[in-house]
Amino acid sequence: MPTVKSYAAPSATGPLVPHPLERRDVGAHDVLIDIAYAGICHSDIHTVRGEWGPITYPQVVGHEIVGHVREVGDEVTRHQVGDRVGVGCMVNSCRTCAQCTEGQEQYCLEGNIGTYASVDVDGSITQGGYSQAVVVNEDFVLRVPESLDLARTAPLLCAGITLYSPLQHWGVGPGTKVAIVGMGGLGHMGVKIAHALGAEVTVLSQSLRKQEDGLRLGADHFYATSDPATFEQLAGQFDVMVNTVSAPLDITAYLNLLDVDGSLINVGAPPEPLEVAVFALIGKRRTFAGSMIGGLAETQEMLDFCAEHDILPETELIDASYINEAYERVMASDVRYRFVIDASTF
Ligand code: NAP
Ligand code: ZN
Ligand code: ZN
Repeated sequence: MPTVKSYAAPSATGPLVPHPLERRDVGAHDVLIDIAYAGICHSDIHTVRGEWGPITYPQVVGHEIVGHVREVGDEVTRHQVGDRVGVGCMVNSCRTCAQCTEGQEQYCLEGNIGTYASVDVDGSITQGGYSQAVVVNEDFVLRVPESLDLARTAPLLCAGITLYSPLQHWGVGPGTKVAIVGMGGLGHMGVKIAHALGAEVTVLSQSLRKQEDGLRLGADHFYATSDPATFEQLAGQFDVMVNTVSAPLDITAYLNLLDVDGSLINVGAPPEPLEVAVFALIGKRRTFAGSMIGGLAETQEMLDFCAEHDILPETELIDASYINEAYERVMASDVRYRFVIDASTF
């Protein structure tokens, strides 16, 4: 397999730079994908900056990948050359544990193999989607429905499934009052999906700067969390709240916005511990939970759901040379609402 062009982080502090990347040969069950687009997830930034713990450099990140199949291994049955496909946050798992056999590979009891910065079956470190091509086991490759615009589909592979899965698991539908905290890449997908599921959707954003967008994307209400009145006005309102914020929040203040039996699901993943005043839980039998992406079958279901409901992320298409500037804009909450790298510019 020839070397492909990519962008890699050389260290926790240096900017990402062009990097020649060696992909493995296509094995019997592998698919070689020519990457067309790769999304930029805030997890990419946490990872390369070592915020979740030390990693090995150089590291190529990116786990929102779409493209076309260029080559398939001898025993591949699920995909054909030319197919429109996607790869999300995982590239393998044990396949035999109780979670894998239930289709919840993200919770594999042996630990799933992440698309980047994970130890692969051959002992190498997985390298992600900011590159021209990738080789992935066929079972971890998703089908992209024909009606989805490929240039905007990549963010569904992480941001889309990360919101779809908890909204389904917590039974969101008509009559559910849902709050989405933070309207970035994940949050704006939460607004669109919860709206499509028939819920009454409220966005809790730091300011009202994104209000017009939020209402256009499907929110019924929009509040600024910088205004203390928001927390008085909305006390005890919500059945389900999904926190997508990448930084630590005063979780207790948000728990108090839940109804009796309400659930706050944290998908945002700041490295710092979050403090919870337990009386905010026990006084109203509230739940504080977490959720991580979704399994392969559910990810396919989400792609098909988005195709059926005409749901796509709001994206800004960038050249590879803009990645470092894009990172700074993500950090400044100045992304509307997902950066997607045009892989032809690597
Ligand atoms: P993002 O695009 O940067 O969005 C995060 C949003 O949070 C921002 O747009 C902003 O929204 C709000 N925010 C940021 N800093 C804040 C602060 N200091 N205080 C209050 N609000 C703040 O990031 P993302 O890609 O959506 O990812 C969000 C988080 O989810 C990251 O930690 C990421 O690692 C994690 N994640 C988890 C999973 C999972 O499986 N659980 C999957 C993917 C990502 P407003 O401007 O609206 O306030
Ligand atoms: Zn992600
Ligand atoms: Zn497993």
